[in-house]
Amino acid sequence: MAKMEIPEWLRYECTGCGMCCRRGLNIWCPLPDRIRLGDFEWAKKYPQLKGHKLFLPYGPNYRFALDEKGACLFLTDENKCIQHSELGFDAKTLTCKMFPYNLLHSNGKVYVSLLFSCPAVIDGIGPKVSEQTPTLKKLLKEMDGYFPVPPLTEETALTSRRPVTFRNLELLEAKLIAALSEPELPLVRKILRAASLLDRLEETCEESVSKDEFANTLEHYDGKCRDEARNCGLKHIPLGMFERLFLRMMQGACSSVALSGLTSKSFIRRQSARLRRFFLAMRYMYGSGEIPAQKSDWEMLMGAESPARDSVSFRLAREVSALHLPDESEELIARYLKTKFGGRTYFGREGWGLAVIPGARVVLSLASIVVWHAKVRAALDNRNEVAHKDIREAVLLTEHTFGHASSLHTGFVVKSISIANRAGWPQKAALHTML
Ligand code: SF4
Repeated sequence: MAKMEIPEWLRYECTGCGMCCRRGLNIWCPLPDRIRLGDFEWAKKYPQLKGHKLFLPYGPNYRFALDEKGACLFLTDENKCIQHSELGFDAKTLTCKMFPYNLLHSNGKVYVSLLFSCPAVIDGIGPKVSEQTPTLKKLLKEMDGYFPVPPLTEETALTSRRPVTFRNLELLEAKLIAALSEPELPLVRKILRAASLLDRLEETCEESVSKDEFANTLEHYDGKCRDEARNCGLKHIPLGMFERLFLRMMQGACSSVALSGLTSKSFIRRQSARLRRFFLAMRYMYGSGEIPAQKSDWEMLMGAESPARDSVSFRLAREVSALHLPDESEELIARYLKTKFGGRTYFGREGWGLAVIPGARVVLSLASIVVWHAKVRAALDNRNEVAHKDIREAVLLTEHTFGHASSLHTGFVVKSISIANRAGWPQKAALHTML
């Protein structure tokens, strides 16, 4: 079995909060699982399921039916999965068993990460994932039965014009993770350090840096970037028109939860939910007027208390301070970004089809998106400073859409990412949003 790369900072143990089964996502169920699970007489034991179609066609396979609010029909009001309680963990379908683990084959190894749309992952609850290898091996074996292991390749795209060997990519990823882990350095300086390293590497794009020189070049650049990030002056900077538009587009794309109605049986309700989502994204791009609280979505997604206000103006949200984020918030955001690098879920098929450097820039700019959502959350609660609970909920919200939503994989979004996401971008976004 392929060697597993498991970031040592990852911890997880399910707390049974049920959030993952209430998020309106399509839970893929291959035909053999559908037949096996369909053999159980669910409606006989659970009368509430009488008359419901439990499995819906999904391409050549199936998916679980959801209720009007996007919750799985196999979930009880007490957050118990009746498949689990009746048939046991092993009988469940792969998607249910996997969440929130993410296993990715890359160049002969398996990169393990976790999805931050699970509160237990956010809070770092449970034993280290590196101590859970028997479970991971079982999941991997099952996963490989469904999806062919990709063939080995020597290299991947560092930029659209220059390749990088996987051996050198490991060195780069280690540097990015080290930059985000540096103790005593505020988050904004960590972002500056990691993003400047990417810029310097990209600058050498046209030059012929041999593969063996890569490590030395990286070491040299990293030293410079570390010193600059430690000592440079920090000030709030305005964004250019297109940059502002891009940041808002990403903020909008990472906030369009609006699950209620999207899974409705009614065509009209489904379309009106889609329209709601579209107008929210537009409102974000326009950058003025009111940001709606979308209370029901927040409650469903976060299990959090409703905010005090129904909506808040962009102006008020901008005025919220994120200058002194609590240490635990900075740690959470850095851990979130590090996990994208440690799990290799930021380039290629896993990262919007982008090459390594542009994909890594998008990941670094997630910090700004999280902080913005936290500001909106604080403003909706009539507070003028971001608190840890805002950051916690903002990471859940961002990952919920970023980690799962197909909207971020559309040609329009990917094109915009490649236009705006150039050298200096994550630094600008961080200095604009966090100061
Ligand atoms: S969201 Fe996470 S903690 Fe909650 S039930 Fe799902 S896996 Fe368990």
